[in-house]
Amino acid sequence: MTAGCILYVEDNFDNRLLIRRVLMAEGYEVVEAESGLRGLELAQTCSPDLVLMDINLPDIDGYDCTARMREMDALKEVPILALTANVLEGDRRKALRSGCNGFIAKPVDIDELPRQVSEHIKKKGKAPSPPANGTGT
Ligand code: MN
Repeated sequence: MTAGCILYVEDNFDNRLLIRRVLMAEGYEVVEAESGLRGLELAQTCSPDLVLMDINLPDIDGYDCTARMREMDALKEVPILALTANVLEGDRRKALRSGCNGFIAKPVDIDELPRQVSEHIKKKGKAPSPPANGTGT
């Protein structure tokens, strides 16, 4: 039993090492993909509770990878957080448009990361409130 499974799409080895260490210490299982296409493959097999998505990747970028994950049934409701040094408003809008739920700024604050991750996993666990007319399924 783990705190959850996190798929981490990141091409930088040092970042992977650091973030894996932090998240594993919190009880998470961490599945790593070193490219966007590998991330798409692993997303289909590991059913993650949350995805951490680097934006600059060697093949497809994190926006494209996120958009493609959103097309998978198993990934529709899974929180995806973009990891990016790009703090410009335009980049954030682009990430949200592609389907990301939020951002984590690079360099990652490892003291903040566990809280950010658990917050988003908790939100996902809550069923969306039914519509006022009660006809929703
Ligand atoms: Mn990168």
